[in-house]
Amino acid sequence: MLYRAFGISGYHCVRTEYLEDMVVFRIEQKRDTPRCPVCGSAWVTAHCCEDRWFRLVPVGRKLVRLFFRIPRGECGQCHVTCQVHVPFAEPLCAAE
Ligand SMILES: [Zn+2]
Repeated sequence: MLYRAFGISGYHCVRTEYLEDMVVFRIEQKRDTPRCPVCGSAWVTAHCCEDRWFRLVPVGRKLVRLFFRIPRGECGQCHVTCQVHVPFAEPLCAAE
């Protein structure tokens, strides 16, 4: 459903909440390999998560929001601490 409507793939919707004027999709990444957004290495150790909200195109008169808990991890190859790659979000990285 998410993929068909919004072109988001690789995630599954864990919960859909229908509020008065808003639809909220809570999504999780499918359990394949998180990848480093800098070097593409799959050698990423996850540590904590960051909650992010994304605005999607409204459906009818309802606003649509995507809630996603983005895991952060450290790349074993280039030692950058990053969010794992999210195709629809800009990566936030901190070189250490
Ligand atoms: Zn890397």
